[in-house]
Amino acid sequence: MSARRPPLLMNPGPVTLSERVRRALLLPDVCHREPEFSALQAAVRHGLERVYPAAAGGWSAVLLAGSGTAAVEAMLTSLVPAQARCLVVVNGVYGERMASMLERTGRAFAVARTAWTQGLDGAAIERALDRDAEIGWVAAVHHETTTGRLNDLSTLGAICARRGVRLLLDTVSSFGAEEIDLAGWNVEACAATANKCLHGAPGVAFVLVRRQALLERRSAASGLYLDLFRHFGAQEKGEPLFTPPVHVLYALREALAELQEAGGWEGRRRRYRDLSSLLREGLGARGVRLLLENEAAYASSLTSFELPPGTDYDPLHAGLKRGGFVVYPGQQSLLGRMFRVAVMGALEPRDLERFLGCFDEAVGRAGTLCQAGASQSVK
Ligand SMILES: *Cc1c(COP(=O)(O)O)cnc(C)c1O
Repeated sequence: MSARRPPLLMNPGPVTLSERVRRALLLPDVCHREPEFSALQAAVRHGLERVYPAAAGGWSAVLLAGSGTAAVEAMLTSLVPAQARCLVVVNGVYGERMASMLERTGRAFAVARTAWTQGLDGAAIERALDRDAEIGWVAAVHHETTTGRLNDLSTLGAICARRGVRLLLDTVSSFGAEEIDLAGWNVEACAATANKCLHGAPGVAFVLVRRQALLERRSAASGLYLDLFRHFGAQEKGEPLFTPPVHVLYALREALAELQEAGGWEGRRRRYRDLSSLLREGLGARGVRLLLENEAAYASSLTSFELPPGTDYDPLHAGLKRGGFVVYPGQQSLLGRMFRVAVMGALEPRDLERFLGCFDEAVGRAGTLCQAGASQSVK
């Protein structure tokens, strides 16, 4: 009898690991105060700085133990001075989360909000900046995973660059697979995680910060654990500040090597686009509609679909899971209206074909035979 593989993850992170990355989790235990760990930490930081070659020299990666949210919170609370004014651009859960972080830490901020199914409104952002000349920071989400929209940062970045306003980005679900123009968009920092487009294991996150800011400015952090400046200081000396997730870092080092071999972020974006096209065409042919206005609105890695009429999310999810695939629901106001399918992680075009067969089965239409795991047994 062959063992059945666990379901493939088509939720927007964490992802199905490649066998190569999974094996890296089993490398030897090391003490984080020994030179072996210093070398690992340096390799991971360097690997992250190489994902966007323009970062080299100008932006430094600071590692943190935690999920993506920890990196976003560390970025906002370490960099935005307590007295500064910030504009948060919101069109989904993750934009709201950044506003909530600023609110809880007593920062003064304004919000430029559009509906969750809408893109950013450049004119409204300009008006908000005109209204309050004291605003020196803009915080925005690159890929708003709530809907799959890739926010138009060329427009927002051009506004920030022209006005000399510093841009802070949540790139948690775009780093490694979408364009990030650090200099052109006046990016002060961007926060991300190991376990989305980089295909690492969950447990480590990071912020890429303009190096000059880390060297010359004072930390705005009021807490201890999420103070990026302290982590940066220790990491520059080859030490971690606190106990790091050593094995997760091994996995990230391997995942970064895999990314480079696969053509870097552009190669990964091509791969995601190919897989997402199969998905969108396949579900489109079955009459399933996109939640957003058109394909061009989406990030390469994720698509949100309207639930087909008469289909509830829970049975759809359960049917797909029986067939070997985990998908994701809508959040908050979008719950019950949509489902999301990501193509990050170790996925092959043939997995998408099987997915479509299982989808038919799950919505009770075409009688495509899809016995759970039948075609995915491993020896
Ligand atoms: C996944 C995600 C996060 C962080 O999620 P964690 O569960 O903390 O890793 C933040 N922002 C965006 C845009 C995300 O997609």
